[in-house]
Amino acid sequence: MYYNEETVIFYNGEFIKAKDASANLYSQSLHYGNGVFEGIRAYNTTEGARVFKSYEHYKRLKFGAEVMNIQLNYSEEELTQITYELLERNGLKDAYIRPLVTTGADMSLLTSKETDLVIQCWEWGKYMGDKLLRVKTSSFQRPNPKSCFVEAKVTGHYTNSILSTNEAKNNGYDEALLLDINGNVAECSGANVFMEKNGKLYTPPRGHIMAGITRATVMDLCKEEGISVEEKHFTLEELKQADACFFTGTAAEVVGLQSLDDYQFPL
Ligand code: PMP
Repeated sequence: MYYNEETVIFYNGEFIKAKDASANLYSQSLHYGNGVFEGIRAYNTTEGARVFKSYEHYKRLKFGAEVMNIQLNYSEEELTQITYELLERNGLKDAYIRPLVTTGADMSLLTSKETDLVIQCWEWGKYMGDKLLRVKTSSFQRPNPKSCFVEAKVTGHYTNSILSTNEAKNNGYDEALLLDINGNVAECSGANVFMEKNGKLYTPPRGHIMAGITRATVMDLCKEEGISVEEKHFTLEELKQADACFFTGTAAEVVGLQSLDDYQFPL
């Protein structure tokens, strides 16, 4: 599904066939989860493939690399240009793009000076489907922002997302909703959350969540449309009295919730 005999990836400065690439089994990313990545989408438009918010995604990748001390010597513009060339070489217009920066062979707990950059892309439908979701409140919290950089897309952070998704799916739900360390609603395992109450939208402020690019886009669009959005903490009890709720994220796009635990959203 992700690649075939013909798929081309960008790997350490070169465009090569995915089937010819190999990864380092001694990589610190594999052993300790010290790597950073992004999830980006391109859409087919009347002017051809357009990468959505490319600069913002690569800025976040560079932020993650910087805080983890991972060397990434490409600018946002260079990475964008490479992405367009990669799409072209793969003949893709609607695509999901996955840049990943991994660290080299080093079993110490100091970031390796060696890094590898790979950019992959493939066709991918809406990650959470297009039906309303049945969501379970997770028993796992989002990570404490004092234990990591929650706004950095660090590979190792995603074990928290995997734990909560496994728990939700194994209990017959579609997705998980996670609270923060203070018990406020934080976000989904890989998407941000908005609730609607009396014609107004609310979303948790930055601090315990990924600063989603889709979230920011939704807030910009609401401003343009005169829809009120407030960034504010809210509890699970408040969310269970909301009129509606939706998740936003690059992979998920925008997807509504049918229910949260035993609460059915009325709208
Ligand atoms: N929260 C988490 C934990 C995520 O992994 C993502 C995906 N990057 C999001 C929210 C949504 O962010 P974006 O809209 O930038 O994809």
